[in-house]
Amino acid sequence: MAISPTLDKLTDDQRGALDDASLLVISARQDAAALLRRAGLEWDDDDDFFGSRCRQCRCSEFDGNGRVCRRSSCRHSAAQHAS
Ligand SMILES: [Zn+2]
Ligand SMILES: [Zn+2]
Repeated sequence: MAISPTLDKLTDDQRGALDDASLLVISARQDAAALLRRAGLEWDDDDDFFGSRCRQCRCSEFDGNGRVCRRSSCRHSAAQHAS
């Protein structure tokens, strides 16, 4: 994903918008994964299939519905989990 201006130059509003947009992507993926699980489909946790892996650490799935991941080992923003 290419965002302009670069991520480290975003205003607080732009950063908030990016995290809010990321949460939409993450929740859509979680809904999609839940739908497949209800249909009896399973996949390896190591597989990124419909996952929201963190780009900054080894966290495999965004936790919570705020702008920051609730996993104590992660605490990275939703935007880091959306791609
Ligand atoms: Zn995380
Ligand atoms: Zn993380």
